[in-house]
Amino acid sequence: MTLQVKWEELADIKDELAARDWFMGTSGNLAIKVHVDPIEFLVTASGKDKKKRTSEDFLLVDSDGKPTANTHLKPSAETLLHCAIYRETKAGCSLHVHTVANNVISEIYGDEGKVDFQGIELIKAFGMWEEDAILSIPIIPNHAHIPKLTEALTPHLSTDKGAVLIRNHGITVWGKDGFEAKKLLEACEFLFQYQLALHQIHAK
Ligand SMILES: [Zn+2]
Repeated sequence: MTLQVKWEELADIKDELAARDWFMGTSGNLAIKVHVDPIEFLVTASGKDKKKRTSEDFLLVDSDGKPTANTHLKPSAETLLHCAIYRETKAGCSLHVHTVANNVISEIYGDEGKVDFQGIELIKAFGMWEEDAILSIPIIPNHAHIPKLTEALTPHLSTDKGAVLIRNHGITVWGKDGFEAKKLLEACEFLFQYQLALHQIHAK
């Protein structure tokens, strides 16, 4: 029962993000926790067109990212990032997408290792209500070796919801459930597009 419910929840998110065109070139991967102890989660199967909805879109994996049952499907190459999130936090859903906006922002601010947002209404999505609150999104290097990339991500997994940019690669967000993770992802992409629009005005 839970598995079916979680599958539908993740499939709905995938449809919405696909409608936004956030899975270019089969990029991106999504995960949702199904079982807490031991950890089991659904993750997108590798190499699928995420604009289509099929019974082979996700597969169940364990805390090491290994399929829990015999299957011809392969978990996404970046499954270890989701493993780290479920190991280090209480998150129930984690989403990773590559967009032009998140790539350009990660390149502009990559040397600083973070990008800050202040005084913009949408940082409230992260639960920041104070007028002078600053949302700081870390930017980590894009190690091609996924275990090394996971190592770079892990120190930033100290809260149960958050976002990390991978330089010239994409963003990973996590939250207590699919609703929260998607909200954070949309808020981040809004902030990135806003920041890019500002840059364009200032460049003129
Ligand atoms: Zn990626």
